[in-house]
Amino acid sequence: MSGPRYLTKSRFKLGMDCPTKLFYTKKKEYLDSKMDDSFLKALAEGGYQVGELAKCYHPGGHDIATLDYDEAERQTNELLKNDRVIIYEPAIRFENLFIRIDVLVKNGTHLDLIEVKAKSYDDELENPFLNKNGTIQSGWLPYLQDIAFQKYVLSKAFPKMKIDSYLMMADKNSKCQIDGLNQKFRIVRDETNRTGIKVSTGLTADDLKGQVLIKVPVDDFIDLIFKDGSFKEQISCLASAYENDKKIVAPIGGHCKSCEFQCSKENQTKGYKSGFQECWKQALDWMDSDFDAPNVLEVWSYSRKDQMIAEGRVKLADLSVDDFEPDTDGKLGISAKERRWLQVEKVQKDDSTPFIDTEGLKAEMDKWKFPLHFIDFETTMVAIPFNKGRSPYEAIAFQFSHHIVNEDGRVEHVGEYLNTNVGEFPNYDFVRELKRQLGGDVGTIFRYSPHENTFLNHIYRQLREDEVDIADRDELCDFIKSITTSSSSASENWEGERNMVDLWYMVKRYYYDPYTRGSNSIKQVLPAVLNSSEFLKEKYSKPIYGAKDGIKSLNFKDWQWLETKNGEVVDPYKKLPKLFKDVSDKNFELLSEDDELASGGAALTAYGRMQFSEMSAMERKELSNGLLRYCELDTLAMVMIYEAWREWVK
Ligand code: SF4
Repeated sequence: MSGPRYLTKSRFKLGMDCPTKLFYTKKKEYLDSKMDDSFLKALAEGGYQVGELAKCYHPGGHDIATLDYDEAERQTNELLKNDRVIIYEPAIRFENLFIRIDVLVKNGTHLDLIEVKAKSYDDELENPFLNKNGTIQSGWLPYLQDIAFQKYVLSKAFPKMKIDSYLMMADKNSKCQIDGLNQKFRIVRDETNRTGIKVSTGLTADDLKGQVLIKVPVDDFIDLIFKDGSFKEQISCLASAYENDKKIVAPIGGHCKSCEFQCSKENQTKGYKSGFQECWKQALDWMDSDFDAPNVLEVWSYSRKDQMIAEGRVKLADLSVDDFEPDTDGKLGISAKERRWLQVEKVQKDDSTPFIDTEGLKAEMDKWKFPLHFIDFETTMVAIPFNKGRSPYEAIAFQFSHHIVNEDGRVEHVGEYLNTNVGEFPNYDFVRELKRQLGGDVGTIFRYSPHENTFLNHIYRQLREDEVDIADRDELCDFIKSITTSSSSASENWEGERNMVDLWYMVKRYYYDPYTRGSNSIKQVLPAVLNSSEFLKEKYSKPIYGAKDGIKSLNFKDWQWLETKNGEVVDPYKKLPKLFKDVSDKNFELLSEDDELASGGAALTAYGRMQFSEMSAMERKELSNGLLRYCELDTLAMVMIYEAWREWVK
């Protein structure tokens, strides 16, 4: 171990998440599966520029750029000798606690501690931080604990100063007053691979008028956190454990599913350790072989994981039907409870065959009208608006893909849309093109997850509220209403006559393949159907995709989707050329990870890269081509699921 072992902001956050993690963090032998590319992270999370914008709203400050603890502290203390000063990233230390504050404003004996968060804040809500019973909302707690920790360190380091604390966040209700504000904050990676923001030399005071960030006083909420007394104890317990490299043994539970200190068998044979397995072995008295058996962490959307783990009934073999109460819910297909038990039962019976509710699914399919349309959107939400009149975290839809299946079974990739033009708000053109492509018939439209419906609702609201003259505003709104259902927050209620069918919902109600190990993400369901469906194996193991007289494609030629390795289908996504050449496989996989409701991390990162970083025309072209191929596969995956089902139910 080298260097001082201080409890910093990020270590405090990690320790609050799970104190055991502090023991594993940054040790070479323990693999950490979290993203370790700050540039990609900045692009994927979209809010990195907010910190730099916050500095611009506090002009005249001094930046402490060094990463050296002692030097940063020395420079800070030197600056704090001034009666009035603004410091960006000052280093404050008290004993074994060390923080870098985003913005610190000193005015005599008064300090303003400003923590910048790339998070949307709605100041029109009454008590946005609190529950009805006066406690802090769980969604806000980590943010408020973070600033409470900083206030604690600052007050200990400067006990005579009066401190006011603020969270500075994106103001949901603000409207940007200029075009191109976002493009004035470019994300860059320097020679040492450090990520930073390059602020345009053309940024003027006028550009900063009509702030899109809001400074919210939070001392009352910090007082609430300190009120029960245990918070300070927690800080000192975490700091002491980290300083002395002592493991705090925390209870294992359902939260361990997302623990970053998991490590594959392959990596363990290379000498790496799994923090996750250490915790679980210790808590359950398990051996290596126990990890081979499916366990309760895999059960889909199961709220009793903690209870089962606490009772020591961790493997699926240990669970019984009474743990699931698999009742129907009166709707067509299987209920969530039935589905969970089905997953466990299949493991217990060593049954790897897919379940399909043939009758129920057939009844659904009989309602579908040809040609069938399969669409998928790629979207993002950027913290700093591109255009005048737009708000922070405005929904942006920049890409879609569109496949159809004709009544005679012919599959065609008939359309797509991609707009990565720098600083352009693409949404209205996006909808215009969608309308043009879907408007020629009344065939059923499919989406996978509520995402497409949600974004069309956003665009509907944008169209309705936009003060700019839009000639086809009503037509576009009517079209959106015809293929969607209104979201719960909408002021109008509707259900379109051609409301999209959610294939994800169909999966959950009528189909379960043990190969997915409980995940309904399309990235898991696609390889599952490919492995189970003889029809798909036969059809897609030939180079027919994009071939003359084969399946029409806009981005592939003579492509063979299906290949097998060791008797299993190779994931078709793995066959695609890499979207980013300079990104490690690990980081790309993390970006592409698809939980069931959010998808497209890789696509929105690529979009961010084209918007906020410097790229050559050639790089842009290559990245656009990659985006088109990935999105085409997203809708083809939906087509394949449909084709497998069609063959099974006929
Ligand atoms: S496995 Fe669980 S208890 Fe162990 S470090 Fe990870 S989250 Fe914490």
